[in-house]
Amino acid sequence: MKAKNEIHCSFCGKDKSTTQVLVAGINAHICDSCIKQAQTIVDEELSDQFRKSLARNLTLLHPPEIKAFLDKYVIGQEEAKKIISVAVYNHYKRLIHLSKKDDSIEIEKSNIIMVGQTGTGKTLLARTIARMLNVPFCIADATVLTEAGYVGEDVESVLTRLLQAANYDVAAAERGIVYIDEIDKIARKGDNPSITRDVSGEGVQQGLLKILENTIVNVPPQGGRKHPEQKMIPVNTQNILFICGGAFDGIEKIIARRVQRQTIGYTSATESQVDMENLMQYISPADLKSYGLIPELIGRLPVITHLNPLDRDALRKILTEPKNALIEQYIKLFEMEDIHLEFDEEVLDFIVDKAIEFKLGARGLRSICESIMLEQMYNIPAVKKNKGLKITLEYAVSQLDKSRIKRLRVA
Ligand code: ADP
Repeated sequence: MKAKNEIHCSFCGKDKSTTQVLVAGINAHICDSCIKQAQTIVDEELSDQFRKSLARNLTLLHPPEIKAFLDKYVIGQEEAKKIISVAVYNHYKRLIHLSKKDDSIEIEKSNIIMVGQTGTGKTLLARTIARMLNVPFCIADATVLTEAGYVGEDVESVLTRLLQAANYDVAAAERGIVYIDEIDKIARKGDNPSITRDVSGEGVQQGLLKILENTIVNVPPQGGRKHPEQKMIPVNTQNILFICGGAFDGIEKIIARRVQRQTIGYTSATESQVDMENLMQYISPADLKSYGLIPELIGRLPVITHLNPLDRDALRKILTEPKNALIEQYIKLFEMEDIHLEFDEEVLDFIVDKAIEFKLGARGLRSICESIMLEQMYNIPAVKKNKGLKITLEYAVSQLDKSRIKRLRVA
């Protein structure tokens, strides 16, 4: 018979003498085996809650709805937007499938690779998707990565950025989107790997492969190799969507060779259907391989799409039409100071002309606008409020003449 005052586990009733550890609370005790059991219950409950929240937070948007969202921010690039909308839709479905614990069939991730000149909207597309999904998003630059042990950053640093973007909420980061820029710069440097080790090319591709696979990666929370003592954070990459982008300068030649080879033997009618002016539209995994990406990496990026160079019409639209359009941003900045800012239509045409002349694409629009608006922005605090300000062509030309932006002109 138990002595009245003998200490025992308040959950299973075991006496203190039959437990290894008995932890005391205010009015109760708990033994080591009950702690273990409780921990299992907590883990299951939390992972269940996580799964449910995963499903709850995902309203399954259909591809046309996703594209409509992208249309608000990204001008043109119809095909890329369509392909990405389907990839994101499938990514959604995959997450929902996972949340149902249905393991009858494994749906593979639809990581994306975008090929297109700089300043055509690759980063903007990736960023817009993250905004739509409301998930953590980070941009990593492939050029700074090197194989482990060499000067540069380890590939794991890509995930450090994502953790930082998620405020170190690992569960949120595990559903995030990573945009890896300049993926073309880590192409294999030549076919003979024996001369020198290709530590920033193929070595990095191998490293990336590891994180693109569904694995648990130990991520240094502060990044870099300067803190060897830091405790690693395990991150599961299974649900992280990877989007890679690159200009792949000169890939048209590779595409041309392949397309021409393929059309040999067909009728001339088929041959004439090849649009030699815009070869990028025919981009295929084989071309990426010829360019120097390893087949394993290409295999992990099953969705390929291309972005077109932006023409005058697209650049003109980019100035005023998208949400957060450049011109709207300046109007807002001045409105905050009670100044009604207006641009003459011909100023907008002038900005586009200059962006084309300087060969700066959409990126140039911003620098040109900054040069034109600098003086006015500098003087805003002194300007009398509640008045209007109209930017005329004459003013725009004079400001641009004064600025140093001409140095940006690409030869
Ligand atoms: P990339 O990643 O292809 O080099 P970005 O997406 O960074 O180019 O584009 C640079 C800037 O140019 C963006 O911030 C955006 O303001 C503008 N821009 C580029 N392409 C588009 C586009 N298709 N629609 C709207 N804005 C664009």
